[in-house]
Amino acid sequence: MAKNKKQMTAVCKKNDELQLEIIDMGSQGEGIGRYQGYTLFIKDALPFDVVKVKVMKTNKNFGFARLMEIVKPSPFRVESQCPSGRRCGGCQLQHLAYEKQLSWKQDKIAGCLTRIGGFAPDKIQEIMEPIMGMENPTHYRNKSQYPVGYDKEGNLVAGFYAGRTHDIIPERNCLIGNACDQQIVDQVLSYMKEYGVSAYKENTGTGLVRHILIRVGESTGQIMVCLVINGKSLPKSDKLVQRLLECTPNGTDEKYKITSICLNENREKTNVILGNKVIPLYGETYIEDCIGQVKYRISPLSFYQVNPGQTRKLYDTALNYAGLTGNEKVWDLYCGIGTISLFLSQKADSVFGVEIVPQAIEDAKENAKLNGINNATFFVGAAEEVVPREYEKSDGKLRADVVVVDPPRKGCDEVLLQTLVQMQPEKIVYVSCDPATLARDLKFLAEKGYELQRVRGCDMFGFSYHVETVALLSKKNYNDIVLKKRR
Ligand code: SAH
Repeated sequence: MAKNKKQMTAVCKKNDELQLEIIDMGSQGEGIGRYQGYTLFIKDALPFDVVKVKVMKTNKNFGFARLMEIVKPSPFRVESQCPSGRRCGGCQLQHLAYEKQLSWKQDKIAGCLTRIGGFAPDKIQEIMEPIMGMENPTHYRNKSQYPVGYDKEGNLVAGFYAGRTHDIIPERNCLIGNACDQQIVDQVLSYMKEYGVSAYKENTGTGLVRHILIRVGESTGQIMVCLVINGKSLPKSDKLVQRLLECTPNGTDEKYKITSICLNENREKTNVILGNKVIPLYGETYIEDCIGQVKYRISPLSFYQVNPGQTRKLYDTALNYAGLTGNEKVWDLYCGIGTISLFLSQKADSVFGVEIVPQAIEDAKENAKLNGINNATFFVGAAEEVVPREYEKSDGKLRADVVVVDPPRKGCDEVLLQTLVQMQPEKIVYVSCDPATLARDLKFLAEKGYELQRVRGCDMFGFSYHVETVALLSKKNYNDIVLKKRR
């Protein structure tokens, strides 16, 4: 490799057409091939494909090329089940056999833990449990957000953004979307057409309807339809309500009923989908869903895991790793609507949840009441502020036997990790949606006296490159640490 470095940029240039074999897959599911030692990233190409590509962009050490033709398909290649698979930005692994998606995700987690986390490959091999896959990886999502806009001919459309653009592909029969979505989106569009309600135009910031947000409580069948609008109200909203209530979203299955219709006001010129204000049109501004024995109330603004079947497996794993006996004080950081907190509260002495979104904490408190749970306390605020503050207030006596963290992709703030190390919980259960930041944070904790004991992936997002991971760290024996220091 190093020898080739000097000549690298000369190997190929923009618009060159080349043939090569794909040898690996990048962190976002893109194929990786080498042309005379020069690395090219090729979207939609798979390991062992022999492909013809067109070079799009070259940097010093690597470049990007477009897949033009598959000369010899990889043995792992399958027919994409979605007609918009290649254009849509939602999925990246449509053409990879599901079993291979799982093994790739397993390797991805292991790779991050060794490369970024600095853990020995042998140790990772030994402790990693097999990834939990889905029995049926299609139509698993309980939440969708369809952008509404116009196509090139000026027709009203709703669907998904094409990869890396904001062009709307009018595809509603999404392979991973909920089976109820299509009916609902059709009803909204037909209402808009009939009453001349405009769609939002991103370039001018004018027009009304921006997105259709749909959430389905898989266990209760309750459905929320929330229209994100660039305004305060919707003309003839009663007609929309009427249409939605008259339809059976899931064909003949009467379990699924629209129980909440609302508006969300977003008048900002922004890519952020939701604004802060929710206006009810019909029913409550939330729906309910159950995971195991616990019932949850979910508002449009709160985070809730999108794959209900896999969420159950994820939380069971976290509960199992926490190893609760009933006497523990548990902290659940980044708790959202209290999902994990309440799931664990049944087996703990008490649970303390921390979450930055105030409305999620309102839901969490309400959820505790709804389930008659009275050993859970919730704090609004950033985990990296609340936990150090409570620790200081307690004069360093704040007790946690088990801490669960479930941060967003960027992982935990170092201030928080440092405070956890001071608090010295017996166990830390880390739930992560990004193996790279997980590995970074585990490295920090491993250097400060915590030992990585168990790791397990969970496929929450089939056909995408994302993967969820649960890891268990245990406090090393005092003796182990002293011995190590003396050495
Ligand atoms: N454990 C929950 C939510 C996990 S998603 C569940 O399984 O449903 C991560 C959550 O962290 C989101 O609810 C997000 O609002 C919250 N969050 C983001 N940054 C935060 C921070 N700095 N402190 C506390 N919570 C934060």
